[in-house]
Amino acid sequence: MKDIKSLTLKELSEELAQLGEPKFRALQVYTWLHRGARSFQEMSNLSKALREKLSQTYSLYCPTVARRLVSQKDGTVKYLWRLEDGNCVESVLMRYHHGNTVCISSEVGCAMGCAFCASTKGGLIRRLSPSEMLDQVLFTQLDSGLPISNIVLMGIGEPLDNYDNVLRFLQLVNSPEGMNIGMRHISLSTCGLVRRIGDLAKEDLQLTLSVSLHAPCDEIRNEIMPVNRRWNVDELLSACRAYYEKTGRRISFEYAMIRDVNDTPQMAKLLGKKLRGMGAHVNLIPLNDIEESPLKPSLPQTVRAFQKSLEEQGITATVRRTLGIDINASCGQLRRKYEKEQTSERSDC
Ligand code: SAH
Repeated sequence: MKDIKSLTLKELSEELAQLGEPKFRALQVYTWLHRGARSFQEMSNLSKALREKLSQTYSLYCPTVARRLVSQKDGTVKYLWRLEDGNCVESVLMRYHHGNTVCISSEVGCAMGCAFCASTKGGLIRRLSPSEMLDQVLFTQLDSGLPISNIVLMGIGEPLDNYDNVLRFLQLVNSPEGMNIGMRHISLSTCGLVRRIGDLAKEDLQLTLSVSLHAPCDEIRNEIMPVNRRWNVDELLSACRAYYEKTGRRISFEYAMIRDVNDTPQMAKLLGKKLRGMGAHVNLIPLNDIEESPLKPSLPQTVRAFQKSLEEQGITATVRRTLGIDINASCGQLRRKYEKEQTSERSDC
C-alpha cells in the first residue's frame, strides 16, 4: 500500500479526486497527517466511509519512542525511534537561544565507512522514506511539547545517498500547509558525494549545505573517509565552489579534530589556503570518542590554536559547543547500544 504521508499536497489532491472526493478533502487529510494523526479513524471531519476507504488504500504509520534520554546538563533530548519494520533511528533535540533544533537521521545505518563514526559500523540497512524523516521532526515536537524551528540533517546516514527521498522530505516539511519550516532554517550535511552536490546546486534551495571535510589533503582524508577515494579533496572543493557560485549560499565545513591526525599547524595552513575565496565557514568539532575506534579528540589548546590560525588566514571558524555530553548525544551511538542490548537479551532466552 502507498505511504500516504510521503505524498505532497498536490499528489494527494490528485489521488483523492480520482476517488471522487471534493477538492477541499485533500487539505483536510494533509492537515491531519502533518499534525501527527496516528490513524485514519482519528480524522473526525471525514465520513466513516472515506476513512474506511483510505485505510484500505493507503498505509499510515507513526514511529514509537524506543528510548528517550534527557540531558541533566542542558536539556538536550535524544530519541531512539522504532520504525514500522522494527529498525531504529535516532534524533536529537537541542535547545539553542535561536530556537529548538532537531537533528534527524536519513538512513538506517550508513554505507560511507568513515573511520570515526559510530553510525556506519554495521553498514547501511536501508534508506528512510520521506515520511519517516518528517515523523522525526513532527513527533519530536509533539513528544517534547517544544515548537521546532530548525532542522539539521546530521544524524545517522548520508542524506545525499538518499537524494530523492530527502528532497521530497524537504518539500513536505517546508510546505505552508504542513510544518512550514523555512529552508533557511534547514542544514544538510554530506560526506562529499560530488555528483549529488552538483544536482543539489541545480535545485537552488535556500538551505545551508554542510560538508564534512575533516582533512585538507588526500593522504589523511583517504585514511579516515573512504568516499575520498571516489572524489578527492580538490574535486570536492571545486564542487563546493560551483555550489557557492550557483546558489550564493555559503558552505559550512565540518572538521572533527582528531589528535595527531588532522590537527597540526601545517594542516591549519593548508585548510586555510584551500578554502580561500568561497565564503567558507569552518566548524571545528572536538572528536567524539567512540568505543569502536582508536582515534582520540584533539587537546583543547590544539583546537584553539587551529581556530586562531584559520582566523588569521581570514577564514571564520567556530568551535562547536558540545550539547548532551552526558547522554552520548552524537548520533549512531544509542542505536548501536540498543541493538547490542536487544541481541544479548535475545541470546539470553
Ligand atoms: N553523512 C553525513 C551526515 C551525518 S554525520 C556527513 O557525513 O556529513 C554528521 C557529522 O558528524 C559529520 O560531519 C560527521 O563526519 C560527524 N561525525 C561522525 N562521527 C563523529 C565523531 N565520532 N566525532 C565527531 N564528529 C563526528
